[in-house]
Amino acid sequence: MTCESCGAEVAGVEPVHRKYVTVAAADREPAERVLAEVENWCFACLTLYPHEPA
Ligand SMILES: [Zn+2]
Repeated sequence: MTCESCGAEVAGVEPVHRKYVTVAAADREPAERVLAEVENWCFACLTLYPHEPA
């Protein structure tokens, strides 16, 4: 199987919704945005990047 986030060939992937997290700055509020699209991620990406289970 291929991870759709990093492109690695791995034994297993998990379906997730990618989440974009924007940190607060002087000119903006912190925000989270969850994509509707389902991606299949490897374990490394699941531990590294924000997401929600699909
Ligand atoms: Zn990956």
